[in-house]
Amino acid sequence: MLTGKTAVVTGGTRGIGFAIAKKFLENGANVAIAGSRQESVDKALAKLPEYAGRVMGIWPDICSPEEVAAAFASVKEKFGSLDILANNAGISSRTSLYDYTIEEFSKIMDLNVKAVFVCTQAAARIMKAQGGGVIVNTSSMVGEYGQPSGCGYPASKYAVNGLTRSLARELAKDNIRVNAVAPGVTRTDMVAALPQELVDRISAGIPLGRVGEPLDIANAYLYLSSDLASYVTGVTLRVDGAAMT
Ligand code: NAD
Repeated sequence: MLTGKTAVVTGGTRGIGFAIAKKFLENGANVAIAGSRQESVDKALAKLPEYAGRVMGIWPDICSPEEVAAAFASVKEKFGSLDILANNAGISSRTSLYDYTIEEFSKIMDLNVKAVFVCTQAAARIMKAQGGGVIVNTSSMVGEYGQPSGCGYPASKYAVNGLTRSLARELAKDNIRVNAVAPGVTRTDMVAALPQELVDRISAGIPLGRVGEPLDIANAYLYLSSDLASYVTGVTLRVDGAAMT
């Protein structure tokens, strides 16, 4: 579904991002896995030996326009284009308002919002010049319902939805589609570390009766990144088993 396309996946070293990178590779794309450190990027690349030649690693500070522009230019130089940007890197928090420091609030906003802006701007400049592209952002179900602690995290995902809808409208004229995927509780390292009893209790509250798997989210990314979604832009696609909170 993505043969001949080149994608950058931020936060692609593990969890949902790694599943997206693998799904894109399985579907023929060239992929640049973006991580925060060379060490974690190398570890991820080592898990994908069958795709050597179609996968590379980059580790810019994704809040730095200069570092991101240089990294994305290196991707275009290696593979010839940059067609898909998966803005997936993100951190969460459950700190109560009374304990929230300004540093923690800024850290969440920097990675979850500012980095999406910086990476989207750099990618869109390349995509516009080459005639189009696709951007998919990782939102969250808490970007629709909020959550009862860690207010910075849902606030950041509401901002991601706002960027998604606004940039879909702004960039349509450049043939760039912008969408988001809003996962529910998904079995990444964080969820895998929870006691099974707690996972069972969470699952019981989800109409489809289970937490999501990274593959469930990656499949939505594949759809939105492919030509199957050629008339879909400005959408936040919930992939949460109809969970309501
Ligand atoms: P994870 O912690 O397993 O992975 C996060 C990724 O972000 C990692 O690859 C990490 O290297 C990267 N990252 C963290 N800090 C970074 C930094 N400073 N610079 C660059 N990259 C950095 O988390 P995940 O669950 O796979 O989350 C991926 C995305 O999905 C996030 O945006 C998260 O908010 C969202 N999400 C996750 C869930 C869930 O239940 N797992 C639910 C809803 C939304």
